[in-house]
Amino acid sequence: MLDPFGRSVSYLRVSVTDRCDFRCVYCMAEDMTFLPKADLLSLEELDRLCSAFVGMGVRKLRLTGGEPLVRRGIMTLIDSLGRHLKTGALDELTLTTNGSQLEKYAVDLVRAGVRRINVSLDTLDSAKFAEITRWGRLDQVMAGLQAAKAAGLAVKINAVALRGVNDDEYDAMIAWCGREGFDLVLIEVMPMGEIGDAARLDQYLPLSMARASIQRTWTLDETDYRTGGPARYYTVRETGRRLGFITPLTHNFCESCNRVRLTCTGTLYMCLGQNDAADLRAPLRASESNAPLEEAIREAIARKPKGHDFIIDRRKAPAAVPRHMSVTGG
Ligand code: SAM
Ligand code: SF4
Repeated sequence: MLDPFGRSVSYLRVSVTDRCDFRCVYCMAEDMTFLPKADLLSLEELDRLCSAFVGMGVRKLRLTGGEPLVRRGIMTLIDSLGRHLKTGALDELTLTTNGSQLEKYAVDLVRAGVRRINVSLDTLDSAKFAEITRWGRLDQVMAGLQAAKAAGLAVKINAVALRGVNDDEYDAMIAWCGREGFDLVLIEVMPMGEIGDAARLDQYLPLSMARASIQRTWTLDETDYRTGGPARYYTVRETGRRLGFITPLTHNFCESCNRVRLTCTGTLYMCLGQNDAADLRAPLRASESNAPLEEAIREAIARKPKGHDFIIDRRKAPAAVPRHMSVTGG
């Protein structure tokens, strides 16, 4: 699948639920209203949709949410998608998770063919963790991480850089990831969804500043390692682990974008930072044949925009994209 700018679309991220057992301050309002269950695609429909994409050339699937592991029956979907790994149609099946359910699922994930996962963790301090996630417990996530490690999953920690919240912790997190054998990616906060204007401006920390402070303690060697994602990676010489930076606001990564995003209601977003979307649920349900669905996917890819226009600016409304990250899954 080639888009109008010649980029090959080989990576599909699927939000399998908009629900979550946490309420991270940068992601959700505490009193979020979620989609009525009846609007969700069933697990079978999600499987059919993902499989259509795989049939059309997608090589990498990432399940996300909301929290993917709180969707009831999620292992049925993951097990079933694992068949595409066995046939070689898919290179990678992975997920982004807050880690709360990993203790329960780590072994099953490996059995289904998952080899690496991203776990979001913004702090190593349990009081701060409770503040950031509102409903989360750090010890539960730590237990999940140990289970993941024991099961043999490679782990990448995603931390959102939050000014005045975790900007004093990066050195400790780099050291901890070094000891645990995890890679670490720092992410700039993005203007997604209404969470209160003041909050967004207060949270924003340009990663150029974080990197400068990290380099006072650690030696960052440039690498050309890429995961098909927008992160720029370094190797921390002292630990041997990778450290990535995702800077959607200070560095435009759109020119190499290879991905599209599917929501749990079957809406396809061709760009995280744009509102244009294609409904795939109607063509999915219209026919038992995949032909109408594939036609709708092709039409959508032909509309993939060149890039996003996120901006955090004191003179402009901060929520550049009205939907929350939990809808499109980050
Ligand atoms: N619940 C799972 C988790 O937390 O990993 C998966 C979904 S979550 C929406 C995916 C990623 O998006 C997480 O790493 C989270 O930190 C990040 N995220 C959420 N809101 C964000 C925002 N406004 N800016 C930047 N990253 C955000
Ligand atoms: Fe839930 Fe992930 Fe959003 Fe936190 S970032 S509220 S864990 S979906």
